[in-house]
Amino acid sequence: MKVLCDFCYRKCQISENGYGWCRVRKNEKGRIESEGFGHIPAIASDPVEKKPLYHFLPGTMTLSLGASGCNLSCDFCQNWTLSQNHEKGEYIAAEAVVEFAGKNGFPSISFTYSEPLVWQDYMLETAAKAKEMGIRTIMVSNGDASEEAMNRILPLLDAFNIDLKGDEGFYRNICHGELQPVLRTIQRITESGKHLEVTTLVIEGIHDGKMIRALGKMLEDSGVSVWHLTRFYPHYKMIDRSPTSELYLAKIIDIAKETNIPYIYPGNSVLKAETRCPGCGKTLRKHIGETIEDGSCPYCGERIYGVWN
Ligand code: SF4
Repeated sequence: MKVLCDFCYRKCQISENGYGWCRVRKNEKGRIESEGFGHIPAIASDPVEKKPLYHFLPGTMTLSLGASGCNLSCDFCQNWTLSQNHEKGEYIAAEAVVEFAGKNGFPSISFTYSEPLVWQDYMLETAAKAKEMGIRTIMVSNGDASEEAMNRILPLLDAFNIDLKGDEGFYRNICHGELQPVLRTIQRITESGKHLEVTTLVIEGIHDGKMIRALGKMLEDSGVSVWHLTRFYPHYKMIDRSPTSELYLAKIIDIAKETNIPYIYPGNSVLKAETRCPGCGKTLRKHIGETIEDGSCPYCGERIYGVWN
């Protein structure tokens, strides 16, 4: 008997003893299970800015976890040994993660490095326990989710960084995924009022001004406030390409700033990442790890998007 997995937009119908597209979800004698549930090959303490989240508890560390697997297969994947090769890790119970975070003073736990959508059963169990302990949770995702997954995730998670990787052709040809479910996920997060920042990896020669304007329009229409444009460095199946130059990223940032998205930041770059008030234009912080007292501009009182404490 086939079973349906609704963890992501693919909605795989999995045959008995078979696997879904991600090779994480499997049909075990008519019951759906996750291979390697709770086995975590990647665990680290990261500045929250590394997710990247620049407007969520700035200057704090987050306990970052990554299990194996992904529902996409991007030719430029930076974590392909985890997402595609399915590294094995030690089993760590959700309670143990939350207890460790609590004892060591982490204000947040991040589900990151690979694609948490395909191991969302473990993420949701951990997030529920973290919520009981008053620890916030962060999901770093490609956003190619199902509606059912977002119904489960939104009530529990506190903050999101979602990739908007490119246009439809880019998703189809380079990521082997789809754009529309990502846009729907972004829309649902903004509607929910949960914290959201969006990231686009800029590949010189692919992400031109036209594509950046189109992506910016999509984000504007969804009410996104924070957009990170980060510099590509060659990985996985795209090692023959040159890294995106600083000059090119600066040009792309200028184009992105033509939109009404109030906070636009360069990533993986030497370019300045300061925060300006969208009301009066004054500089609010020169370093992204600093907080903004009371979450408002001290010069004009404008509310600054974010979770500041
Ligand atoms: S997580 Fe996505 S890719 Fe994996 S089995 Fe479920 S629906 Fe398919």
